Amino acid sequence: MKYLDEYRDERLAHGLVAEIARQTTRAWVLMEICGGQTHTIMRYGLDELLPRGLELVHGPGCPVCVTPLESIDKAIALALRSEVILVSYGDMLRVPGSRLDLFRAKAQGADVRVAYSPTEAVKIARANPDRKVVFLAIGFETTAPANAMAAWQAKREGLQNFSMLVSHVLVPPAIRALMVSDTNRVQGFIAPGHVCTVMGCDEYESLVRDFRVPIVVGGFEPLDLLEAVLMLIRQLEAGQAKLENQYVRSVSYSGNVPAQRIMQEVFEVADQKWRGIGMIPLSGLRLRDEYAAYDANRVFDLGEITVEEPAECISAQVLQGLKKPTDCPAFGMRCTPENPLGAPMVSSEGACAAYYHYRRHAVAS
Ligand code: SF4
Repeated sequence: MKYLDEYRDERLAHGLVAEIARQTTRAWVLMEICGGQTHTIMRYGLDELLPRGLELVHGPGCPVCVTPLESIDKAIALALRSEVILVSYGDMLRVPGSRLDLFRAKAQGADVRVAYSPTEAVKIARANPDRKVVFLAIGFETTAPANAMAAWQAKREGLQNFSMLVSHVLVPPAIRALMVSDTNRVQGFIAPGHVCTVMGCDEYESLVRDFRVPIVVGGFEPLDLLEAVLMLIRQLEAGQAKLENQYVRSVSYSGNVPAQRIMQEVFEVADQKWRGIGMIPLSGLRLRDEYAAYDANRVFDLGEITVEEPAECISAQVLQGLKKPTDCPAFGMRCTPENPLGAPMVSSEGACAAYYHYRRHAVAS
């Protein structure tokens, strides 16, 4: 197949669904890690085509959703300083902090600007030498190379008014945390194809080995996801646990080595708090000491910020596949994309937003 719409071919999709039904003899719980995959599943109703008992649960792979409340509050505190220009991806503006979001901070006079890449933030810093430009650098391994490149470029140019508030998260430690949890229900994972395009597949081998859990690297189109489900079911029904790559048109085993090199030069692995989930050891990235001058946490005196999630929001259980968004009493009532209580309702990759857009009827049943 060469064209995107071929990966949405209805006839081929029904063939895969029939084969999944033929292979499935008992109940299984599978998790797609990435919020982009969740949105495809909801948009095309893929979960509703699967045999009864074969359940898809949604993972923590929405970068906006897992950025800790403390980082949002720090970004807002920085944005409200008169000398600061806070630059962020657009998705982050509506994510609720403990009191405000960046959108409301902007309405109060904060200089908050939206960028589509970190290099735009570097350009803003160059154009505003009398201001301090802070880029809110969030995301999984997919955005880390570009963010690393921005810090590298700023250092090379000797830019003194650019820094990054880093809140990067890593997929494999999150899978490990899910697997060691007493509440885990997941028996097979669809790993995120874009993350593996950067990082390759190697990191997932130890998860397969340590937990005897099948992992299939999957893409983002309906046929990608159905094929990934079929590959997982074949393994599970045969009692196997292997790492397989469905997304071969993008993912190689070793990944994008130059991208990994720039990440390693600029970042080091560190413990990281995930919004709603808590601290996961060695599951994030922070700037190396050589880049301390570009680390907003070290450039500004931000102090320690400790905040509590709104009690009503069950996003922690949603992000761990323990509950569906429609199990949340606030879903579609007190929590909507216009008035979100939690980050999964804001983000274009959030599970709650996916259910709101494509599965709102389910709340009435
Ligand atoms: S529907 Fe809203 S309140 Fe409920 S879990 Fe999702 S984001 Fe949180």
